[in-house]
Amino acid sequence: MNSQPNPSNLNDLIFDNRFIRELPADEETINNRRQVFGACYSRVKPTPVVNPQRVAYSREVAELLDLTADACEADDFTQVFSGNSLTAGMESYATCYGGHQFGNWAGQLGDGRAINLGEIVNQKGERWALQLKGAGPTPYSRTADGLAVLRSSVREFLCSEAMYHLGVPTTRALSLVLTGETVIRDMFYDGNPKAEPGAIVCRVAPSFTRFGSFQILTARGDVALLKKLADYTICTDFPHLGEPSPDVYITWFTEVCRRTAEMIVHWQRVGFVHGVMNTDNMSILGLTIDYGPYGWLENFDLNWTPNTTDVEQRRYRFGNQPQIAYWNLGQLANAIYPLIEQVEPLQEALAVYKLTFEQNWQTMMAGKLGLNAFDTATDGDLCTELLELLALIETDMTLFYRQLAKIDISVEPVDYEAIFNLLSVAYYVPEQITPEYKSRLTVWLERYLKRLKIDGTSNDLRRQRMNAVNPKYVLRNYLAQLAIDKADQGDFSMVNELLELLRHPYNEQPDQEEFAAKRPDWARQRAGCSMLSCSS
Ligand code: AMP
Ligand code: MG
Repeated sequence: MNSQPNPSNLNDLIFDNRFIRELPADEETINNRRQVFGACYSRVKPTPVVNPQRVAYSREVAELLDLTADACEADDFTQVFSGNSLTAGMESYATCYGGHQFGNWAGQLGDGRAINLGEIVNQKGERWALQLKGAGPTPYSRTADGLAVLRSSVREFLCSEAMYHLGVPTTRALSLVLTGETVIRDMFYDGNPKAEPGAIVCRVAPSFTRFGSFQILTARGDVALLKKLADYTICTDFPHLGEPSPDVYITWFTEVCRRTAEMIVHWQRVGFVHGVMNTDNMSILGLTIDYGPYGWLENFDLNWTPNTTDVEQRRYRFGNQPQIAYWNLGQLANAIYPLIEQVEPLQEALAVYKLTFEQNWQTMMAGKLGLNAFDTATDGDLCTELLELLALIETDMTLFYRQLAKIDISVEPVDYEAIFNLLSVAYYVPEQITPEYKSRLTVWLERYLKRLKIDGTSNDLRRQRMNAVNPKYVLRNYLAQLAIDKADQGDFSMVNELLELLRHPYNEQPDQEEFAAKRPDWARQRAGCSMLSCSS
């Protein structure tokens, strides 16, 4: 009898671990902290944990891996994705990379608490690398423990999936498990360390290669290995570019610039602030990677950063993300320069970043406003004035755009009071709505309505367009924190509820209206709801 492999069985997954097969390994196999030269990775096993418990899994990611719900709910799934056992075909390792942290070269960083399990080739022939985050120390752990706590793991798990469903390029998350062990963290860096539940997320992406993976090799003068990694990356992740050559390195870098610009425009569209855009946290595929002290804009504020470590400098503030991505690409250009040895084509590629960003930003804003297309003659000013208005008084960005879509443009004469009423739910501090503010908003609304009339779009079509790019539901900081509070008590219901909710962020979900509400007052200053430390 001809038996088909049953993909619901973890042991039947097909692995093709190309990264470790084609790139050089660290010869040392002892798991001690060290500098690793001449290698892209070190072999290391996850540390077993005492009592793993599955908290949640993403059914869409399971599907990508051809895993059935039964497979995800079986005990061996929990054992494998807590690092307690490896299935047939898995080969575990940690990769070596460096990076600029907060603008300064930091030398070797590497997968300090990420352990790769290998690359699955699914039934569609797609390649998906699996990586456990928080599964114990590796040679790259430096002075840290290689572990992760539940609160940061809930945040990474939920946000990866939320971003995916919002249409933002991102690494994915298959599973979230508790280890049954505690991890000591000084959450506020104030000398009060506390035992917290340990957890592990299994991340999934076509590749986890970062800008810093190339930087470390150039910093060490290892051009031969730099070339090997670049060639490998092009052949594996950018096969459409053809055989690697100096010209192809340039088209490759140009594509990285383009993809990064696309990703950043998405971040600005949905109000996502990464919080730690160090070059080791920049994916070569243009994916959002490494969810640490990220946050979601509540009141629109270009200066906002969720990261307590960055409050002074605000390097990674919302409004600075486009410039930082450009700076990071400049560092990547420096890193791959030895492969090209010409400055001009790298500069031209960097110009592609700026151009792509500009064009995509315009298209994105046109979409947010429901316009047919961005008219450079008029819409630049229209957007600038809107963004100034949004920042002028505390205005919830997400709610504002959803409410704006509700305006009925067929009403003549325009009923501005009715529009103010619609928009009023987006304001945090009613006292800030002064007559001056109202008259400035009225002027903007007049322009906007006139602009919509020129397009001649119906209310329905405009609303449809706007609601397709302006989410109703995002992972509001306080919502994630409420889910974490419950999870810390052993109640995972809200993690799963949010996971479900955020699968359809653009849809009206009438019985979930409460999750669309703006940040309540109690959350304004609460840790985890407004600001986060890097402690995770
Ligand atoms: P991040 O700021 O989270 O991107 O981390 C920067 C570097 O520190 C990376 O090399 C991480 O792998 C490493 N790292 C962060 N937290 C830990 C931890 N708890 N244990 C070991 N390494 C860590
Ligand atoms: Mg990182």
